[in-house]
Amino acid sequence: MPTSTSAPSERIVIVGGGAGGLELASRLGRAHGRQRITLVDSRPFHIWKPSLHEAAAGTLDIHQEGLSYLMLAHLNGFSFAQGRLESVDRERRLVTVDAVRDDQGEEVLPRRELGYDTLVLALGSASNFFNTPGAEAHAVTLDTTENAEQFRLTMLKAMALVDQAKVRDPSSRLDLVIVGGGATGVELAVELVEASHVVSAYGLPNFRAERDLAITLVEGAPRILSALPEKISTAATARLKELGIRVETSCRVSEVTGASVKTADGREFPAQLCMWAAGIQGPAVLRGLGLPLNKLGQIEVNERLETSDPHILALGDCCAAPWRDGRTVPARAQAAHQQAEYLAKKLGARLRHAPEPSAPYVYEDHGSLVSLGQDAGVGSLMGKLAGRGLFVSGTLARLMYMSLHLMHHKAVLGVSRTASLALARLLMRRTRPRVKLH
Ligand SMILES: Cc1cc2nc3c(=O)[nH]c(=O)nc-3n(C[C@H](O)[C@H](O)[C@H](O)COP(=O)(O)OP(=O)(O)OC[C@H]3O[C@@H](n4cnc5c(N)ncnc54)[C@H](O)[C@@H]3O)c2cc1C
Repeated sequence: MPTSTSAPSERIVIVGGGAGGLELASRLGRAHGRQRITLVDSRPFHIWKPSLHEAAAGTLDIHQEGLSYLMLAHLNGFSFAQGRLESVDRERRLVTVDAVRDDQGEEVLPRRELGYDTLVLALGSASNFFNTPGAEAHAVTLDTTENAEQFRLTMLKAMALVDQAKVRDPSSRLDLVIVGGGATGVELAVELVEASHVVSAYGLPNFRAERDLAITLVEGAPRILSALPEKISTAATARLKELGIRVETSCRVSEVTGASVKTADGREFPAQLCMWAAGIQGPAVLRGLGLPLNKLGQIEVNERLETSDPHILALGDCCAAPWRDGRTVPARAQAAHQQAEYLAKKLGARLRHAPEPSAPYVYEDHGSLVSLGQDAGVGSLMGKLAGRGLFVSGTLARLMYMSLHLMHHKAVLGVSRTASLALARLLMRRTRPRVKLH
């Protein structure tokens, strides 16, 4: 139950219930209650974004995985308003949330205005196509659950078509190009290989994934996972090659067509399907707020996560917070989580009319883990002393990778519900195919 002693007039609105925003709303809601804390999200359910490559491959069912915001609001004591952020009237301190319509276009919830004393923007990011011709029109992204589901269905259909075409033309195959050799591209490539083996084994008599699916991973930098230590890139590259994935580095994409991906050095890779995972930018809605943005369209915040407007704070991928050597905090779930913890303390003090903590937010890099399939992972854990990375690989790395997701669930569901959910998923696996086939 809320234990608030704050003045009723203090209202905090958090827009974006992702890795950071949902954790913040849950922490503040539990302490201060639904009169003061409102979460806004365009969707009715929450998905942990780092799982989207699994949703795209079909190894995770988003309809089972999604957690209802209304349930989370009830459990954690905050209010939930569904709808897309349309605009912010900074003068009157009002956010406008767009109407929600059903699939037939009928209005389910009206357009609304919500007043705030403090607004926290936690809107995440959108894919950055870097003005590459044809990319937005022909490539799929992994920004949202809808994108992941669209990709999954398109991929299933493409495999079924190749399966049929092989009767007439045995050389038919499915060419898929993934643009971007960061964690998203690498994890997706591996997940797709594993998933396609399952799909072909279940119901496609002529399609053999190892022979008929050609995946090319294209990266502009000299190595994949270029933001991580070289040892991790080397291990991941070896694993990708072992799985038959072609890796092209130092290769800049100049155009995406409906049938191929062209590169600046004059090469052309056939591609019935193209996944764009080459970088991020701030969501377009931020451009209308009149707040300073960096060149990627993210809101500039100081080391206390404050924007130039004293009533607006920001966290996660949608903002650029100062880090070290002139760089900004990387767009990572662990950063969004840490920033939510920091803002929970800061806003908790604000709600109690107590002095806010004077310490700035400092990003602590605990290392990076990359999933390389069901039983494998690779990564580094940052030691507190000396800042040196400890290299981890195999099942241990994969288990540690999964623990990030469990920690997020623990923050929003509590320990016993997280344990029940993990057990339920384990049991469900025994009754369902490993890949969603419909
Ligand atoms: C495939 C994949 C794998 C990843 N793996 C890792 C990993 O292993 N480790 C790691 O640290 N990071 C990983 N990341 C990055 C990580 O997912 C993000 O850094 C993190 O989710 C950012 O959190 P956030 O709270 O800023 O935004 P998000 O988690 O993206 O949440 C944003 C929320 O805002 C909502 N929203 C957006 N626009 C609006 C609007 N106009 N109105 C209302 N609501 C809106 C969205 O619905 C969403 O709920 C991965 C990302 C991807 C795509």
